[in-house]
Amino acid sequence: MIEHLEQTDVLVIGGGLAAMYAAVHAAKTSRKVLMISKKKVGLSGSSLVSMSVHRYAPQTEALKEEYAGSFKASGRGINDPRLMERLVQQGAGQVAALKEFGLPLQFKTRDYEGKAYPYLACCAPKFGRNLTYPMRQYIESRTNIDLLEGFMAVELVTDQDQVKGVVAEKGNALYFIQAKAVVLATGGAGYVFENTSNTCDLTGDGYAMAIRAGLELQDMEFIQFYPYRAYSPAQFDIFPDIFAHGACFLNEKGERFMAGYPKKEQENRDVLARCMFSQKEVILELSGCDPDYLEKECPNIYEAFNKYRDRRFLVKPVAHFMMGGIPLRLDCSTNLKGLYCCGEVTGGMHGANRMAGSALTEIAVFGPVAGVHAAEFAARQCKGEAGAFDVDPLAPELGQDDVSGIRQALRKTMWTCVSLVRTGQAMNDARKEIDALEKQLMQIKPMDLRPWFECRNMLTTAKCILGSAILRRESRGAHFREDFPAEDPEWTGNILATDWIARFIKAKVQ
Ligand SMILES: Cc1cc2nc3c(=O)[nH]c(=O)nc-3n(C[C@H](O)[C@H](O)[C@H](O)COP(=O)(O)OP(=O)(O)OC[C@H]3O[C@@H](n4cnc5c(N)ncnc54)[C@H](O)[C@@H]3O)c2cc1C
Repeated sequence: MIEHLEQTDVLVIGGGLAAMYAAVHAAKTSRKVLMISKKKVGLSGSSLVSMSVHRYAPQTEALKEEYAGSFKASGRGINDPRLMERLVQQGAGQVAALKEFGLPLQFKTRDYEGKAYPYLACCAPKFGRNLTYPMRQYIESRTNIDLLEGFMAVELVTDQDQVKGVVAEKGNALYFIQAKAVVLATGGAGYVFENTSNTCDLTGDGYAMAIRAGLELQDMEFIQFYPYRAYSPAQFDIFPDIFAHGACFLNEKGERFMAGYPKKEQENRDVLARCMFSQKEVILELSGCDPDYLEKECPNIYEAFNKYRDRRFLVKPVAHFMMGGIPLRLDCSTNLKGLYCCGEVTGGMHGANRMAGSALTEIAVFGPVAGVHAAEFAARQCKGEAGAFDVDPLAPELGQDDVSGIRQALRKTMWTCVSLVRTGQAMNDARKEIDALEKQLMQIKPMDLRPWFECRNMLTTAKCILGSAILRRESRGAHFREDFPAEDPEWTGNILATDWIARFIKAKVQ
């Protein structure tokens, strides 16, 4: 039995920065806005744990061109040029506009022909929570946005190619929330991998819901593995600029294995991460780093450095960012009428790899677009009574089974076979394993619905990643295949993954 819980104009799904920016901009149009989030709004997802760094194109033609050139090179030429152009033109203005919400951003400038141009904004210290907490405060104190927290969106409800709301779960009960327009901002899926910098709520729900609603996903084979994550004796993110201030990586033999690369430890993330993956151990060497710089710019590292003075800091690459997702359009619309998307759940902007600091800038540009367009769509819909839509998601009978074994097996398989170094053989083995895990999941009676729903979404997302990675028979950006180690000019199109639940991929190279 599904209870009809709420009716709203705009429903925003997610509690990260993309969702919050979309919601506040939708609310400015006086539409009724409701946010639902699995965890607390502003206290969950990658936005919370990010380093708050926004890099963007300085607003002068020569530097804009330089930025666009680096962006395209990083994406290995398969970024959508219209999205990139929008980011280049509007990034600086939209990041500056965040001051409206009281976000404590500090702006850094770069000199060009005698003039200073802002190119980067971040908090001090560089903690994402310095953005997400004030954003939540702004929502609570300055808007009429309603928050439903602890609710997991399970299924998009559609009627004749139009979204009508979602089914959401809380405490093993299912609810229907009706909406005239929906913004999907559920973030990425790092938790599908055993080693990740993402929080555990990022189980690929948005991708899986989109696939089940008949949408396509693009570029799902491209996952950024972040090379700057210390895991022992303390866990922290390493701000890459410290490598320009005397820090370096050494392997277990004490060799600086990046010494031969032009940008050394600041090499493109995919190249650096793969070099790290092939070492037995990677150690962060800080003895050459100025302590005053560390204390001021990286207090988390400074603290760990002082606490564990005699210990070696071990580092490994971790699954960090999904370049792929629901194809992003300039107006954030999708193939489902009334459904808009923004943030990491989208794909197309970054191509085969993402440039540092560009995800938060993308959200500053496209979060508001998603919110405003969703509100405008909602305004065009008639008033409408509570609808009698087909809202019957596949939900298992409850029992005593635990899904954690299946989840852990999936995460391990994805790390072993589909992470930094891939082969057709290993990925085909992974495919069989994932099929078997899916069969197991369908047969069990879980203790609670939430972990079962999440695990199903992780399996669906994993299949999209895997299928796309099997199909791309070359290496490009973050996707490296040992059996096809070279980039192939034949493969400059995007792979589309659809309908994995029916156990096939309809993928094509455009
Ligand atoms: C450690 C780390 C550091 C980073 N640093 C930077 C940086 O400095 N600069 C930069 O540009 N990028 C950075 N990134 C990337 C960037 O932070 C993310 O891409 C961005 O914050 C994603 O924002 P989002 O709102 O799309 O998703 P998230 O912030 O991940 O939020 C997703 C939200 O959706 C909720 N949710 C998920 N599924 C459901 C569901 N089914 N129902 C309801 N709610 C759901 C989650 O609980 C969460 O609240 C970093 C990422 C990490 C992990």
